[in-house]
Amino acid sequence: MFKSELKRSSVFKNKDIVSPHYIPDILPFRDDQIKEIITNIAPALSGKKIGNLFIYGKTGTGKTSTIRVVLAKMAELIKERTDCESVITTYINCRNHNTKYRIILKHINDFDSHDYVGYSSSFVYDKLMDYIKNKKIALIIVLDEIDLIKDVDEAVYSLTRANDELSSGSVSIIGISNNVMFKQKLDPRTKSSLCERELVFPPYNAGELTKILQDRTAEGFNENCVDDSAIRLASAYAAQESGDARTAILLLLRAGELADENNEIQVVEAHVRDAKKRVEKDILLDMVGTLPEQLQYVLFAVTRLTKYRTQTVLSHNGEDVLYSGEVYGEYYKIAKTQGKNPVSLKWFKQYLDELELYGLIATTLSGKGVRGTTTLIKLGVDASILNTILEPKINM
Ligand code: ADP
Ligand code: MG
Repeated sequence: MFKSELKRSSVFKNKDIVSPHYIPDILPFRDDQIKEIITNIAPALSGKKIGNLFIYGKTGTGKTSTIRVVLAKMAELIKERTDCESVITTYINCRNHNTKYRIILKHINDFDSHDYVGYSSSFVYDKLMDYIKNKKIALIIVLDEIDLIKDVDEAVYSLTRANDELSSGSVSIIGISNNVMFKQKLDPRTKSSLCERELVFPPYNAGELTKILQDRTAEGFNENCVDDSAIRLASAYAAQESGDARTAILLLLRAGELADENNEIQVVEAHVRDAKKRVEKDILLDMVGTLPEQLQYVLFAVTRLTKYRTQTVLSHNGEDVLYSGEVYGEYYKIAKTQGKNPVSLKWFKQYLDELELYGLIATTLSGKGVRGTTTLIKLGVDASILNTILEPKINM
């Protein structure tokens, strides 16, 4: 049995390449962004001070891959030249290092073999500053998914303030966010220092996604194992949803797995179609998992009402919608049962905006009616899928 299992052929040549974590050496359609980042950080190599940079764009638009590629190029250059050894770039994913303390600790532990876990925040900060000053380091810190840092204002502020205190060496930050609204939530002071310069990553269109998938297919799948129509369908789905290369790649990956499971030799459109639900759930799981608690409650309120409410309200174009007032009521109840303070209506409106940006809900304004003008809300994703994700997290 083992033998036959091993012998069974697979559509994949190298499955790792068809993973959203894989970073190809060449990134089509990102030349402008690569150039822009290099222009921003290259002066550090000739000893000049560089400013901070804020990069944003939706998930799957290639931000992480692009910065990784640029950092790798830069590391090569630094290795070749002896005159820029003092430039150090670090990459941190703030999912794993989500406080100022952890970020600083991570740097210290990279520089110094002593284990500083447990030391006070100011101690590790001073230690890092000493290190930068004594070795005259130009430190460029990439903070990917910067919005996930809990004390982000404090973190950005103290890392950038460092420059005023340092007599030699410097610290610059490249902050990256999938959340287009993140900037608005920053303290004005932090915002102006982090967002000195900004760079946007736009979504990909279907044609661009097709090219990206074709490249990936050539490397990751065996020859002729993916029908071109399957690639085009995956690109079309992903372009329609969000212009997100990660979704497109995940669709291809799951489609390939389905072909393997069914002992088929080629990935065809039907596999992509079947993969779609699974991928939607994976992506939602990931997205919902990183939402702050209160936003999860608001989303859960919309989900529950969509799923369980019997009376229906129709918007002017005939869609089934919810009143923002009733969603607030449901949210209020949910927050209370979780032992948390519900936010005010004003904040609640901000949360709705944010959920809308993620495509999780869609809002419209009602025409002037009995209740005056009110916001109408509709879930942007499948209620049942969302419910299976949120219900276990939020015990009612
Ligand atoms: P983001 O950080 O913006 O969410 P990623 O850089 O993680 O996006 O990209 C998600 C996936 O899509 C990765 O597998 C990445 O390699 C791939 N990808 C994104 N942009 C491109 C591109 N221009 N060319 C090839 N692959 C890309
Ligand atoms: Mg990323």
